Amino acid sequence: MKNTNNIPKPINEPILSYEPGSPEKASLKKRIQELKSNKIEVPLIIGGQEIKSENLSEMYIPHDHQHILGSYHKAGSKEVTMAIEASLSAWKTWSKTSMDERAKVFLKAADLLAGPWRDTINAATMLNMSKNAYQAEIDAACELIDFFRFNAWYAQELAEHQPMYSPEGMKNSLELRPLEGFVFAVSPFNFTSIGGNLPCAPAMMGNVALWKPASSAVYPAYFIMQLLIEAGLPKGVINFIPGSGRDVGPNVISDSNLAGVHFTGSTNVFQGMWKTIGENIANYKSYPRIVGETGGKDFCVAHESADIEVLATAMVRGAFEYQGQKCSAMSRAYIPTSIWGALKENYIDQVNNIKMGDPEDFSNFMNAVIDKSAFDSIAEFIDFAHDSNDAEILTGGKYNDDKGYFIEPTTILTSNPKFRTMCEEIFGPVLTIFLYDPSEWDATLALVDSTSEYALTGCVIGEDKGALLEAKNALTHSAGNFYINDKPTGAVVGQQPFGGGRASGTNDKAGSMFNLVRWVSMRTVKETFEPPKDFRYPFMNEE
Ligand code: NAD
Repeated sequence: MKNTNNIPKPINEPILSYEPGSPEKASLKKRIQELKSNKIEVPLIIGGQEIKSENLSEMYIPHDHQHILGSYHKAGSKEVTMAIEASLSAWKTWSKTSMDERAKVFLKAADLLAGPWRDTINAATMLNMSKNAYQAEIDAACELIDFFRFNAWYAQELAEHQPMYSPEGMKNSLELRPLEGFVFAVSPFNFTSIGGNLPCAPAMMGNVALWKPASSAVYPAYFIMQLLIEAGLPKGVINFIPGSGRDVGPNVISDSNLAGVHFTGSTNVFQGMWKTIGENIANYKSYPRIVGETGGKDFCVAHESADIEVLATAMVRGAFEYQGQKCSAMSRAYIPTSIWGALKENYIDQVNNIKMGDPEDFSNFMNAVIDKSAFDSIAEFIDFAHDSNDAEILTGGKYNDDKGYFIEPTTILTSNPKFRTMCEEIFGPVLTIFLYDPSEWDATLALVDSTSEYALTGCVIGEDKGALLEAKNALTHSAGNFYINDKPTGAVVGQQPFGGGRASGTNDKAGSMFNLVRWVSMRTVKETFEPPKDFRYPFMNEE
């Protein structure tokens, strides 16, 4: 099926299984070995040129931190100025390139990623971000392919939204103009697909971008840049400027040509960027579009009618996949006392079966956390719970960074619903459980709603349809992505547009038309075929 232009209606990229004996498993393993044995030096890419700076940092493997994958050049103020100039120069042509032509580049990138680039980008994600093969596949391959294909489709759909009426004698239309200036795309460490999407979604709409990837995930980001170049992205449309956020950010944000910010990361950093934009507001040529998806304190509320196996599995997968380093990871659970006995046994049994280690061993469900600073911060939360009278550690609680940054899947049981680990984002494999009296269902829903400043994801688990509906209604503003009888993670492009409210972000729904609309400034055109030639109206005629 096609819409009015030539972009095929996309379907989600099928997830490869990597089962024992599968060709994809053998080929991914081979690529991992090749990347590990070949150190690379990652340049900045500005105006299509590889640029080296004076300042380098190393890229390493979090589960084997002595293994260096290579080094990358970091941008300073000189390189930022170059990147802004290169982007403004590319804007002159790219902003006038037709939507079909732009879509062709990203559709080709999708095909390349689905084919010859799949292993490289999955392997790079496994190595530099410590994701297992499945987590890498659903992120770096499938989700990014989906972003490319679905955004091309949504862009066409957006273009089809035209004024309702063009009465006889005139034609009314809406043009999707790209923003005037450049977009600053700043990505987090935890999703390769988000890294790719932040500069590419605005670029799909005819914008140019400066892309600053997270310092701990430059390696896969660099391969995405290579993929885009091979797909035919013109020079200067996306300029790759890794570096320290504190050095790069203010230089970019204070430029008068800043037309938008496409950010994903922590709430603090986003609020800091917004403040800087506010301070500079009189200097910009146009009001910058500010789109940011930030932190979460994602919940699970179980009703006493919950199926114990469904609940335990949602908790284990929701809290511990990718070591809890998903913005959507379940990190607080509200369980009725009436089912706790049965749940506890099933849940602890499942957690005790989790294997943790190197993602090259495919039997490992969990791997390492991203870096030393994340390791220390998560360990501090665990120690706090360990030393507290309000909490008991039910599973895990140990951590070790001798070889890699490993933290056991940790479950804290607290008697205090406002315990620190029930309220603050930890961003690690830590789930805190609070037990409630099932007769206090309504009060518990109010507690879930009021405990955290965030409102990203959450889930309710139960068999009682009435209770599920009550939870859905009571928690209307507590999550931008709400799940019924499922874990709160794993949103899929084209199925669950993603984003949260309150302190979790501007909720512009990545992977949907609603995100793309932020990257255009529309022009309305009214063309009159037979314009009036006399200023007088009929009512002015006296009989
Ligand atoms: P982070 O905020 O530390 O870093 C994000 C990016 O901001 C990095 O590229 C970093 O270098 C950059 N940065 C830091 N200071 C800056 C500054 N002053 N100016 C400009 N850029 C600056 O986040 P992280 O640790 O990479 O990622 C984890 C966070 O991201 C968590 O809070 C998580 O919830 C959030 N996240 C949210 C979503 C979502 O969709 N809501 C998705 C993924 C991650």
